[in-house]
Amino acid sequence: MVSKNLNDLIRVIPDFPKPGISFKDITPLIANGEAFLNVSKQIAQLGRESDYIAGIEARGFIFASSACALTEKGFIPIRKSGKLPGNTISSTYDLEYGSATLEVHTDIIKQGSKVLLVDDVLATGGTAIAATKLLKAAGLLPIGLVFLLDIPELNGKARIAEALPGLKTEVILAQ
Ligand code: AMP
Repeated sequence: MVSKNLNDLIRVIPDFPKPGISFKDITPLIANGEAFLNVSKQIAQLGRESDYIAGIEARGFIFASSACALTEKGFIPIRKSGKLPGNTISSTYDLEYGSATLEVHTDIIKQGSKVLLVDDVLATGGTAIAATKLLKAAGLLPIGLVFLLDIPELNGKARIAEALPGLKTEVILAQ
């Protein structure tokens, strides 16, 4: 039992990183060990059918890694451009503020492996869609998406459902 409501541990910072963006800061939650373990266990449970858990740089790494450690599953980093040293494939996409390129290694994980994809915040869904397509292009099998929280007014869930029909999207701290 977490003594504090998990949603109360998400801090909202107005106008960060630029005016008009209401930034959902997960650092109070991960600073609370009990809360961090609680959400990590929930993510681990959703990943029980997967072979690997992938995280999107940077904050997705935190939750994907903790779920991996709890389940003894391997971690797959999906990183920003130019950070991975091996053979990679990449995907460029738009997000709520700006655009970005994601990359994944193609020379480490066995083709056909089942992967749960994790990120901290679902906003427009562009990042998650690009990351899922990247996993598929690397020959892997995404089996679901998990976010710590979402921003429902940006309709990310609907965009994911349209772009990736049949893929289950879960939000740990649903509003
Ligand atoms: P999107 O592609 O629009 O769904 O954006 C999701 C990605 O951007 C995630 O990796 C989040 O970490 C980050 N992000 C987007 N909007 C926010 C926000 N309002 N607060 C915190 N992180 C955000």
